[in-house]
Amino acid sequence: MKSERDATVIGAGIVGVCSALHLQREGFRVRLIERGEPGKAASFGNSGNFGVASCVPFAVPGVLKKVPRMLFDPNSPLKLRWSHVPRALPWFLRFIASARPSRVESIAAARSSLLQHTRAGYAPLIESAGAEKWIDDSGLLTTFESEAAFRDAAYAMALRRRHGIHMDVLDGNEARQMEPALSDKVVRAVSIPAVAHTIDPLRFTEALAADFVRRGGEIVNAEVRGFEFGDAGPSKLLTDRGPMAVDRIVIAAGVWSRTLAAQLGTAVPLEAERGYHVMFANPPTRLRRAIMSADRNIAVTHMAEGIRATGIAEFAAPDAPANMANARMIARHARALVPGLMGEPTSQWMGPRPSHPDSKPVIARSPRHANVFFAFGHDHIGLALAGITGKLVAELVAEKPPSIDLEPFRADRF
Ligand SMILES: Cc1cc2nc3c(=O)[nH]c(=O)nc-3n(C[C@H](O)[C@H](O)[C@H](O)COP(=O)(O)OP(=O)(O)OC[C@H]3O[C@@H](n4cnc5c(N)ncnc54)[C@H](O)[C@@H]3O)c2cc1C
Repeated sequence: MKSERDATVIGAGIVGVCSALHLQREGFRVRLIERGEPGKAASFGNSGNFGVASCVPFAVPGVLKKVPRMLFDPNSPLKLRWSHVPRALPWFLRFIASARPSRVESIAAARSSLLQHTRAGYAPLIESAGAEKWIDDSGLLTTFESEAAFRDAAYAMALRRRHGIHMDVLDGNEARQMEPALSDKVVRAVSIPAVAHTIDPLRFTEALAADFVRRGGEIVNAEVRGFEFGDAGPSKLLTDRGPMAVDRIVIAAGVWSRTLAAQLGTAVPLEAERGYHVMFANPPTRLRRAIMSADRNIAVTHMAEGIRATGIAEFAAPDAPANMANARMIARHARALVPGLMGEPTSQWMGPRPSHPDSKPVIARSPRHANVFFAFGHDHIGLALAGITGKLVAELVAEKPPSIDLEPFRADRF
């Protein structure tokens, strides 16, 4: 594969697929390399929210007091495998340093600069793929089961408002009028109408990947294990299917990008923040919109195949075996929040969010090699940000001035 404008994207999660599609729109001949199947890693099992209001990072003022307690509480959504402590410790130190109020302000501004373009980043891709049927525009309701939990959210709400997010505050009865399936325990809720969701993250990614192929793109099933270097940077991918000549390379391999970036001379503190979900197929109750419980740290979404509840941030090696006790905890919370959800879940899943300690992705040209580009580390908002990330990556590869300031997303900021 050699033409004037060739690009190879490694990783066919939602970020790689959107990058490949936008590169095609910039006139590149694009090859997408995936070792498994498109959309079957982190992009498979998420909550489906295009969380345009998610500018608030995970490290916020006061986190230093909360994290140690959370790590020892068996009911907490934060988990750390003890064998993983030595590796995760530097990450947590950086995470805590990111919680300074001034840092939080600048991180929220950076996240918001991308989130504002969630819809625009996806619009041409969704239209071309006919993927509108996988999108539900009915908004998001965040619930609170105590006034104290609602008061705790004041800082995050103020930050969101400053970034232009419209929110309606409701009491418990108003919340149940909007969403009759909610428990009586809910005393407050915040409605965010601008948040849409997909009713099937996998089918949505597959629809976009199929459009990439229809437009002449090639998906190659191979695992990239290393690189061969020529005078102008990496010139071949070393894969389990043999070497492949490459021109421009985009690393969009989710949490596994850390290893590939290191082989290309760039160290990034990317950790697997492993999330879990449970599915209740054919549930006896309906949800009208996406729900997030602030007290229970879960999201509950009515999807094409049933109700999905997600949660947990477990720090462990990305490919370590799942601990399904975490999924069972999510199921218990989901049944308490939505009492009509009875019985055991029909399936459960774990997948790694690719997370940097400063809650920002890397969207950048490699500091070491002019023909290498990075698009990874989208933590909890990779679905929301994939469209705009793809657009920005395509602009970088095409040597166009990026339409958003990419300074906050440099790879050498750590
Ligand atoms: C429980 C949970 C809930 C979430 N909820 C939301 C939400 O509501 N909204 C939101 O915006 N985000 C959400 N997220 C986050 C979102 O799912 C991720 O940020 C996003 O899927 C990351 O996409 P990605 O393409 O970077 O990575 P992935 O989907 O992990 O894709 C990476 C791909 O690269 C491939 N790959 C890796 N290494 C190689 C190699 N060496 N050679 C070839 N291929 C390789 C992998 O097989 C994989 O397919 C959630 C995540 C979880 C776990």
